[in-house]
Amino acid sequence: MELPDFTNPAWFLTLTTAIFAVVIGRYLLIAGLFYTIFYLWFPNYWKNKKINERQYKSGQFRKEVGWSTITALIFALSGAITVLLWQRGYIKVYNETTAHPLWWLPVSLFLALVLHETYYYWLHRWMHHPKVFKTVHKVHHDSNITSPWTAFSFHPIEGFFQALFLPVLLLLIPMHLYALIIQLTIMTFSSVINHLDIEIYPKNFHKHFLGRWLIGATHHSLHHKQFRYNYGLYFTFWDKWKHTESPLYERLFEEKTSLVKAQKLDAVQVSDTRNAS
Ligand SMILES: [Zn+2]
Ligand SMILES: [Zn+2]
Repeated sequence: MELPDFTNPAWFLTLTTAIFAVVIGRYLLIAGLFYTIFYLWFPNYWKNKKINERQYKSGQFRKEVGWSTITALIFALSGAITVLLWQRGYIKVYNETTAHPLWWLPVSLFLALVLHETYYYWLHRWMHHPKVFKTVHKVHHDSNITSPWTAFSFHPIEGFFQALFLPVLLLLIPMHLYALIIQLTIMTFSSVINHLDIEIYPKNFHKHFLGRWLIGATHHSLHHKQFRYNYGLYFTFWDKWKHTESPLYERLFEEKTSLVKAQKLDAVQVSDTRNAS
């Protein structure tokens, strides 16, 4: 099937609209699924694993969905530009298995995740610079207690920087279409899981040889509470390496994954303030 010329404005607009429908649909579906399962259907089952006990601010979810819709629009525009670059031959997203060796599929996926982590970690540190924070990143932190809907709740400038990553990556490395789809799926699931405010990983996962490198709800909720720790996106390696992993992480994770709740978050926070002073 011959694709239309996307440099034609009408076709470019059609393409952007189609990608927007996919991006917003994916967000509403996955965030909605987690919200329904964890908050509407089985809230009592997850009660001990809920990280913050305070109620959500009224109107928070509506605002988050609103900002996420703008983010989806920016992602759609970036997606359409990516397709345009692909059509012009600048970007190599391939669909035949013969174009590159089979091992390149998992390797390129792994590389994409590690590079995305690196890009986001440093972008995130920059966004916490006092001069940048208020304009660029405060919108995301308005969700003091996060929810599945917080996943793409960004100011448009932050949305722009986040949308920049994939087209630039694809200019540098070729990727199989499936690897790209997996990367985008991981991105959405991980953002929803990290903002869920309910710890879904099992006991001792933070000490597991693989689990210790993965970010989850406890890890990222501490970022929204403490601001100066836990900047990572998927993995903990930059936070561990640069000593920006919250000293409360292990204790809070253990608390949230043990059946008997020993301490409440407020108690943990108080002791943190004491340690800091
Ligand atoms: Zn932040
Ligand atoms: Zn966040």
